[in-house]
Amino acid sequence: MSDAAIVLGALCAMEGVSYLTHRFVMHGFGIGLHQSHHDTGEGGFELNDLYPLMFSTVAIAAFSIGTFGSVRSLVPVGIGITLYGVSYLFVHEIYIHRRLKLVRGRYRLLEWMKASHRIHHLYGGEPFGMLVPLVPKTLRARAATATWDPFVERPGRRADEVASSQAVAAP
Ligand SMILES: [Zn+2]
Ligand SMILES: [Zn+2]
Repeated sequence: MSDAAIVLGALCAMEGVSYLTHRFVMHGFGIGLHQSHHDTGEGGFELNDLYPLMFSTVAIAAFSIGTFGSVRSLVPVGIGITLYGVSYLFVHEIYIHRRLKLVRGRYRLLEWMKASHRIHHLYGGEPFGMLVPLVPKTLRARAATATWDPFVERPGRRADEVASSQAVAAP
């Protein structure tokens, strides 16, 4: 397999890894760190920022083993992981949450990702994916009626909205 194919494969696989980690670790036993991202939205450092720091060690390990060890193909794997990390940083931190005011315009694909990620922030459930966020149609319809902005307001301040969303979810 060519190096380019491995880079592309690792890049695509990372969306799956990211989905599973976000769903089962960050919204599982690791919620203690991730909650800071859902709560604040006030700029500055979030405890959740420790996650990308931890994920970067995986890329560093891949580069190290690929460079100094015997599994050379881990270098393109490390490049794929890093490219995913950079994409995630741009889409999530810079474009969606505007933590760095580097982009002013609105772009169709990025707006779709933003609208989808907003649904994750509204209800704390799907979509857990970032670059390919898959949202059930009914959930997207329900989110369209939400009147508050989870990127600005804290969920705790809008207990009524949370209560009504749970009422809709109940059978
Ligand atoms: Zn977010
Ligand atoms: Zn989350």
